[in-house]
Amino acid sequence: MSEAETTADQTSASAKRAGQGGSKGRLDWLLRMPSEVERAHERDFGAGRVKHLRHAIIVGLIVYNIFNLTSLHLMADIHPFTVMMRLFVLMPGSLVIFVLVPRVPPALRELLLLGGMFVASLLPLYLFYISQSDHASYTLGELPLVLLFGNMLLVLRYRWALLFTTVTCLTALWVLHAKPGLDQNLVFPLTVQVVTGLFFTLYGNWLFERQRCLGYLAQYDARNRADRAERRGDALRDLTLTDMLTGIANRRHLDETLDVWLTDRRDVLLMMVDVDHFKAFNDRFGHVAGDDCLRRIASAMQAFAARHDGFAARYGGEEFTLLFVVDTQTDGAILADRLVRLVRDLSIPHPARPDGIVHITVSVGYADTREGGVRDPRDLVTRADLALYEAKRAGRNRSKAR
Ligand code: GH3
Ligand code: MG
Ligand code: MG
Repeated sequence: MSEAETTADQTSASAKRAGQGGSKGRLDWLLRMPSEVERAHERDFGAGRVKHLRHAIIVGLIVYNIFNLTSLHLMADIHPFTVMMRLFVLMPGSLVIFVLVPRVPPALRELLLLGGMFVASLLPLYLFYISQSDHASYTLGELPLVLLFGNMLLVLRYRWALLFTTVTCLTALWVLHAKPGLDQNLVFPLTVQVVTGLFFTLYGNWLFERQRCLGYLAQYDARNRADRAERRGDALRDLTLTDMLTGIANRRHLDETLDVWLTDRRDVLLMMVDVDHFKAFNDRFGHVAGDDCLRRIASAMQAFAARHDGFAARYGGEEFTLLFVVDTQTDGAILADRLVRLVRDLSIPHPARPDGIVHITVSVGYADTREGGVRDPRDLVTRADLALYEAKRAGRNRSKAR
């Protein structure tokens, strides 16, 4: 099986898998893809096409100028004119296109090619029309070669190949009909030869273009599906790491982060934070207000952690945990006291407290891995917990270290 057949098979198989009518339904009869796909195709293959076109233009120019030698024999009567037209009209025009192809927008690039091909196909028809030579009709054999170049080597976009082929064909028919002195026995066979030759190349162009578009549509759809699946996966993973009530990191995320930080051999400061007299708050205002209060505290703590390159999570209930990477300069006491003050300054009323304070406050216990601390997550949490207990016993609304 040829490479083209294999690709075509893969293309139709993935088109079927794509569902929604597959890729075929998204190509119109002029083989145009939806505009966002055309743009993506240009991003992926535009540079490659430019390279291919410049290469083909040079090859085409060399071959085209060889026709100078044939017209020397077949249209001797208009001789210097044929060469001059090729050298001074077609050559410079092609070189201009060669220079412009990488510099203009893709749609204009394709139109420039179409324009160049029109000149290349209509010029020999014109030369044939004005030549009086008996052998001039043999030059028509070159016409399908010019079309072969445009349709199958440059691979004009199918819509332009269709226009190019149709206009060239109609012009050729008119020239065959209108050329004075043409042997009438030649008109029918020449017409058949030219028309079949031209439309063979158009058919080739259609096959190439269809394969290109279907292949790309299948690839584009597959890539989109993969992107969507990845985004869904990411969203799902975010969900498993997020606390549903407060929207900050949950316990699982905390465990993972602490493990990573400790494995990276960074020194870590861990704070256990507990809301003071929160049961009384719930009893007084109800659990809905209690939830709102936890959300406010959580977002304040998350912002605090972010400001200090730290990490904040809900440990569970009305308890939170904050992590910070520390160095020898970091003063844990200052950081913990700032956090205590931050929550107090939220000024959430809590008139039901038995200790005379009238706002929500937190107690903080903290521990870190510096100065011989054990680099074990359980040890760190246990020490911070003990410190938290001490902060509670000492009257709450404060921090203690272990
Ligand atoms: P302390 O200062 O000693 O920590 O006193 P406390 O009342 O905060 O501690 P206690 O452990 O007695 O009560 C914790 C309360 O937190 C009890 C529970 O109703 C409340 N709580 C835990 N999780 C949630 C929650 O998700 N939403 C609400 N509204 N309340 C919660
Ligand atoms: Mg508690
Ligand atoms: Mg509490």
